[in-house]
Order: sequence, then structure tokens, then C-alpha cells
Amino acid sequence: MKMEILLDPTSNKLMVGDLCDSLRIKLVTTGKKRWCDSIRIKLVLVTHWFTLIVLSALRRSDNENMLSRSLRIRRILKDGGEVRGGSESSQLSLLQEYIEGTILSSLEDRWVWDLNGEGVFCVKDVRNLLDDVFLPKSPIATRWIKYVPIKLNVFAWKVHLNRLPTRVNLQHRGVLVSDPSCPICHSEDEDLAHLFFRCSLVTDIVRLVCRWWNIAWASIDSYSNWLHWFNAIRLSPKVKDLLEGVFYITWWSIWRFRNQVLFSSLVPRKDVLFDDIVSRSFTWCRSRCKSNFSWVSWLQHPYLISL
Ligand SMILES: [Zn+2]
Repeated sequence: MKMEILLDPTSNKLMVGDLCDSLRIKLVTTGKKRWCDSIRIKLVLVTHWFTLIVLSALRRSDNENMLSRSLRIRRILKDGGEVRGGSESSQLSLLQEYIEGTILSSLEDRWVWDLNGEGVFCVKDVRNLLDDVFLPKSPIATRWIKYVPIKLNVFAWKVHLNRLPTRVNLQHRGVLVSDPSCPICHSEDEDLAHLFFRCSLVTDIVRLVCRWWNIAWASIDSYSNWLHWFNAIRLSPKVKDLLEGVFYITWWSIWRFRNQVLFSSLVPRKDVLFDDIVSRSFTWCRSRCKSNFSWVSWLQHPYLISL
């Protein structure tokens, strides 16, 4: 005989079923509907408090079938002794608390999928559970723009999380940085907000991007302010995604420019940076769009492109 008992402290569910020749108990953690422990033991090894738990649970049921099963279990486990106090006693109290108010069903035993309220298996629930366990958490949902390459989306995600190795971030990680100031303008320390939003080079470039896209420029000093400003822009959803992709390309180009200033023997040219952003974004976005818009329309009125 085998019994399967499901103890769920959040919903007081208890499943008992005859299977083979062992007792199996699964305990579900509070608030998180997933198995945290599963114990399979032979009945001869069952300790007395297990016996009491089972009998206590069964005693709460007024179902005739359950009562007869209770008698059978009592017979099988009749060798169990008294609770010896200490941890046995506290475990017994805890488990009895778990099954407080439990009602046993007279239905046939069946598999129940407990990750949603419907009891039906769904791959999406498994995916969400795995994502929940393994993926890093962020209070703001990840943004993904299909019109730009993966590396640009990853880069924008790092901008959002402030994970780029700016000079200030390197200092916070214990790296010796002789000069923390912005290598482009030298007016402030190079943190993420300065490099991508406050630096004079960036404001000049973003002004040009705004003029190109026929949107009002605003002084922005952080990613969260940019997001707030961007969300208020009125464009069709697809075209707005395109514009967001252009911003990702702008940030990526600025980071590339900054790295060239720091590490390349050739001094990069500021005067072609905006032109590079326009041509680079045309190449990347057009190849990922179903619409074959022309270079001229991209150059003159990207906000009117139909996707
Ligand atoms: Zn600067």
C-alpha cells in the first residue's frame, strides 16, 4: 500500500491515495506553489507522528470510505508509539496546523496541476515558473525592439539596469580609475546618466534625432526620465518601436564613440556621428521590416513610414 499526501499550507489541500507499498508526502511552500520536499518511506519506517497526522487528517472527514481507510491505516501502523516530545512534538503541531480544516474528497485519485487555478497542465505555467526561478528580477518589464539586432536590445537593457562599465561604475566595483570624468566633455563624472543623457555631445545628437523624427526635444537627465518622455510621444505603435530602436542605436553609437575616444589611436569624428546613426539605423531597421521603405523616406519622414 502506498499513500500520497499533499500538504499545502495555503489552501489546506490533502490528497490521500492507495498506490503501492510506501508512504509519500509532499509539502508545498507557503505562497509559492511548487514542491519543496518529497519524502518516500516504507511503511515499516513510518514514525509515530506520521501516523497521527494521517489519522488526524482522516478523522476530519465524514466520508465513509475515508473512515474505513483510516481504520486500515490504523491497523497497519498499530506499532507506532507515543510522541516523544521535542522536535517530534513540534513537527506534529506544525503539520497538524497545515491540515487544519482539511476535507478529503471521495473522488478517484488524479493528477492535479497546481500552478494555475484550473488544475490543467499548461506549458506556459512551466515556462513562467522557470523564468521566475532563474531569470533576474526587475521591477520594469524588459523591452524588446525587433527592428534592431539582439546586441542592441541587450545593450539597451544594460543601459536600463546601469550595468555598463562607465568610469563611475568601475570605481564602485573597486577598479582603480585615475580620472572618473567624462572622456568626451570632461565636465562631470562619467556615470550612465551623464554619458547617455546629460553629456553635451548626447544632447546635440538627440536634438538632431528629434528634429529628424519631427518630435519636440526635451532636456532629459536619466533613463527613467527618458522612458517617461518617450512613453508620452504620440506615434503608431510600430513606428514608435522603430523610434525606440533609433534611440538604442544612438546610445550604442555613443558608447562606441566613447570607447574609440578612450582606446583607439584614431580620434573619432563628432561631426559624422549623427549621419552614422541615420545610415546604421536604416540598414538595421529596414532589413528587419516587412516594409521596403526607401532611403529617402527614411531620411525625410521616418515617422510616416507604414509598417
Ligand atoms: Zn560628457
